[in-house]
Amino acid sequence: MPSSLSQKDFLDRTELERLQLERLQRIVHHAYEHSPFYTKAFDAKGLKPEDIRTLSDIVKLPFTQKTDLRDNYPYGLNAVPRSEIVRLHASSGTTGKPIVVSYTKGDLEIWSETAARCFLMGGISNEDIAVIGYGYALFTGGMGAHQGMERAGATVIPMGGGNTEKLCMMIQDLGITTICCTPSYFIHLMEVAERLGIDLRKSTLKHGFFGAEPWTFEMRDRMEAGTGIRAHDIFGLSEIMGPGVAGGCGTRNGPHIFEDHYFPEIVDPETGEPLPPGQEGELVLTTLDKWAMPLLRYRTHDLTALHYDKCPCGRTLVRMEPIRRRCDDMLIVRGVNLFPSQVESLLLSIKGIVPHYEIVVTREGAMDDLEIRVEVTPEVFGDQVSALELLRNGISGKSKGMIGINAKSSLVEPGAIARCDGKTKHVIDKRFK
Ligand code: ADP
Ligand code: ZN
Repeated sequence: MPSSLSQKDFLDRTELERLQLERLQRIVHHAYEHSPFYTKAFDAKGLKPEDIRTLSDIVKLPFTQKTDLRDNYPYGLNAVPRSEIVRLHASSGTTGKPIVVSYTKGDLEIWSETAARCFLMGGISNEDIAVIGYGYALFTGGMGAHQGMERAGATVIPMGGGNTEKLCMMIQDLGITTICCTPSYFIHLMEVAERLGIDLRKSTLKHGFFGAEPWTFEMRDRMEAGTGIRAHDIFGLSEIMGPGVAGGCGTRNGPHIFEDHYFPEIVDPETGEPLPPGQEGELVLTTLDKWAMPLLRYRTHDLTALHYDKCPCGRTLVRMEPIRRRCDDMLIVRGVNLFPSQVESLLLSIKGIVPHYEIVVTREGAMDDLEIRVEVTPEVFGDQVSALELLRNGISGKSKGMIGINAKSSLVEPGAIARCDGKTKHVIDKRFK
């Protein structure tokens, strides 16, 4: 029930750590004994599950990486028979092999629980009507928020992304109090509402739960001022579970991690060495009781710092700083994960293009804009304007299909893109500067 769910946020720290150790030891045994991937990784280090005696022994465990999931696609990290898996999701990567994540019935319950705790923390009750504007399908955003909202007791409307005009109408007609979507989609919704002459400040909307991509305090202020809602942060990633790994409380002291299920560490992104509380580094997460596909010491590539001092809200759960950047080259544009290598494959599929390019991401007003600037061969550059036009249309035309985002493109002469020590800086992200 909702109220007893929330109590889990207030466990005494000693009690919490006892629970974490018990769960850590159990999951380590489970992973070692049932997943050939982990058996091999432990044996390579001469490590046995019994070697994990205290929470700080966690550093003895090997890290896991996105590449482990790719290399062992699709079921190689699973630790239960296929018959116990009740759901699969996949990462939003649009080319190559996606990352597939498996869940048992029990895993789904934990996922719903932590997402629900995130919504309850934001003040949701059975008085609320919540619309889910995250994408459903393979992406964990839609289903994850949906299950969590139901568990929190709200009335849930499974809208998905897009169809913004209809959403505006439904907000007015159905008494919707809450929306879960990406921050960039919410800004888009604000613009559409304005165009339709709808003043969202006069609507029933009170809460927004935003995540799946980084957003700034400026953006938060803009969303709140423009609509009168309260904007809450919801953090998560598919590999660990989905949305609801951490959630913001009323004091806005940074999202609390539901560390009775997801154990956090911060490491130096270069060396992998553990860093002390308060210091910024890469977030590493261990799933303490995800049975189908346990992930031990997963390198998220998200940069943050952890704070263990008690939050004024009274919760004992650790707080993380909001994620603003990552230490790999993955970009999140309009909620879609994008690696420069995908852009490279797109460009290389078009004749007359040199693989010297830069990806420029801007945020003008509402939406992220993606521009691909690319050099063309001297022959093409010296050619007629129509040939250049054809190439440009080729890039833009293929972009939605190959990278999942409509991109603008501009062609530049050979050598126009700056190189440093022979390397091109492929990404120029102007959104968070
Ligand atoms: P999801 O399906 O939840 O979007 P993905 O695996 O596709 O999960 O993307 C997860 C990544 O999205 C995280 O590692 C992080 O970089 C980013 N992310 C998710 N939630 C937030 C948030 N609230 N604030 C900032 N970044 C976020
Ligand atoms: Zn708090």
